[in-house]
Amino acid sequence: MEKIIIHWTAGAYTPNSVDLKHYHYLIDKNGRINNGIFKPEDNENCYDGKYAAHTGGGNTGAIGIAMCGMYGYSSANNRGGYPLTKIQCEALFSFAASIAKKYSIPIDANHIMTHYEFGLKNPKTTSAGKIDIVYLPPYPEIKTQEVGNFIRNKIKWYYNKL
Ligand SMILES: [Zn+2]
Repeated sequence: MEKIIIHWTAGAYTPNSVDLKHYHYLIDKNGRINNGIFKPEDNENCYDGKYAAHTGGGNTGAIGIAMCGMYGYSSANNRGGYPLTKIQCEALFSFAASIAKKYSIPIDANHIMTHYEFGLKNPKTTSAGKIDIVYLPPYPEIKTQEVGNFIRNKIKWYYNKL
């Protein structure tokens, strides 16, 4: 496995049956990790139909981790719906660190990125224009262009504690 792509589901706070097919791991509101139907290794080959389709144009070799939530949330007034929680975000950072270690994935922008960042780098894929993750509700001071580095720095912090 070569990279980790980080998402939100745009759903409610727990994974539904569609989410479980599309991500390898899903983190609920309380920071609990749910295993998806497919294992990361199923994405070594994405030509057999048996893999987690989380990132259009970028599924091969990519581990998809999603935080459950963001349905109905309004970033304009930071309220409503299912905003990501702080405990959920911290659980993601910590869990991604353990996955990076397990698979020897470097913690840099070429190997660990948000779906949004992948879409920016790959404008001809169906991932172009994806908005996960352009803001983190628990950290409203982090600007869109800083979110990826903020996440990677958090992952590094947890990695160094492993
Ligand atoms: Zn996504």
